[in-house]
Amino acid sequence: MSRTLPVTKNDYIDVEFEDLTHEGAGVAKVDGYPLFVPNALPGEKAKVKVIKANKGYGFGRLIETYEESPYRVKPLCPIYKECGGCQLQHLSYEGQLLAKEKQVRDVLTRIGKLEDVKVHPTLGMQDPWRYRNKSQVPIGEQEGGLIGGFYQQRTHQIIDMKACLIQQEKNDEVIQRVKEICSRHGVRAYDEGRHKGELRHIMARYGLVTGEVMIVLVTRTNDLSNKNKIIEEIAESIDGVKSIVQNVNTKKTNVIMGDETRVLWGEEVIYDNIGDIKFAISARSFYQVNPDQTKVLYEKALEYADLTGEESVIDAYCGIGTISLFLAQKAKKVFGVEIVPEAIEDAKRNAELNGISNAEFAVGKAEEVIPNWYEEGNAADVLVVDPPRKGCDEALLQTIIAMKPKKVVYVSCNPGTLARDLRVLEDGGYTTLEVQPVDMFPQTMHVECVSLLQRETI
Ligand code: SAH
Repeated sequence: MSRTLPVTKNDYIDVEFEDLTHEGAGVAKVDGYPLFVPNALPGEKAKVKVIKANKGYGFGRLIETYEESPYRVKPLCPIYKECGGCQLQHLSYEGQLLAKEKQVRDVLTRIGKLEDVKVHPTLGMQDPWRYRNKSQVPIGEQEGGLIGGFYQQRTHQIIDMKACLIQQEKNDEVIQRVKEICSRHGVRAYDEGRHKGELRHIMARYGLVTGEVMIVLVTRTNDLSNKNKIIEEIAESIDGVKSIVQNVNTKKTNVIMGDETRVLWGEEVIYDNIGDIKFAISARSFYQVNPDQTKVLYEKALEYADLTGEESVIDAYCGIGTISLFLAQKAKKVFGVEIVPEAIEDAKRNAELNGISNAEFAVGKAEEVIPNWYEEGNAADVLVVDPPRKGCDEALLQTIIAMKPKKVVYVSCNPGTLARDLRVLEDGGYTTLEVQPVDMFPQTMHVECVSLLQRETI
């Protein structure tokens, strides 16, 4: 038996928005039935047209706004609508910080059943623009020349982009220049449909403190037309270039990087500093994209770890050892675990570079390496995790519960999986004392959190 829905496709209805989805669309409830409408903000009243009515939720289009949110602003970027990389430019920065705090609180309640956890106001940036240190653009062709920028929303059509307002200006300059040089030397863009052509992506990474630039040319082919001339021109004409790298990706895939990486010119790494610590970063390693806010995030993690110098600490999902080295300054010993071998090489190099001798690093899956350590009788007093979006593996969470570190500091880029994992740890004897959202990605719906958990009984 099918129940009739409160809305029908092509209806025009008046609604009031009460929330935002993870994609930044407004949410209105019609007799409890959620309707998602792009570009609408909480608190706004509007007429919408129902575009699609699924069983449990529908989609609408904004027709006329009767009452605007006091937080609504005009988006700064001229390509905001087509690009889709940012979702919140039409919301003031103050509004964004409030929305992120609410998102975290709602998800902790809904998924984690954590009603009473203290969620602090989101720590935001002074200037929430031009913050990204890494730019990665797909390459296409138009009228015989190379273009690069972004895929038009929900398509694989590449739109050329001269500037991205959340990128460091240096990255815009580098991408423009490399595009132009490769174009002039007859490089053909990768054609996804036919799986032909050479250049798939250009990646630029910029060390904000050091001014060093790394350029990665991701190619389908092993070779690149006029490679030597291209390298020479890039090296001569772009200030700060320290490393030019080729990554070969021969596969038919949406994954950007392939398995083979080779240095074409200069160093294998570039350097950057966060606080007092210097980091070597190679092409394949994860490095936080917003260096100013990374410092805020790591300082909070360090504050939550509350180290006295006597502790043994595990840093799971350690990347190039960034958090590990921050912790090592205050701990007796830090053990970092990470799945990407190049990142662990960087981590070891970074420990040495900073004269830190109480940090050790291991390659492997956190959910395999840490249980092994525990079986061998090694336990930590404090455990830090910073997993990718999918959160921690169940085997790791169960090992934490068995190992019983006094404190767990959970750094997360996805509130949904954070809430799920906190529930498991709570059921295993931990209490979530506080959660601090940090705005690492202004103008987007993404939010990073640092959480502090403590064992109820030792
Ligand atoms: N703490 C680091 C990195 C965080 S990003 C920093 O702040 O810079 C998450 C990291 O987890 C990535 O480096 C990724 O390569 C790694 N990773 C992904 N799955 C993993 C797993 N199962 N075990 C260990 N590391 C993993």
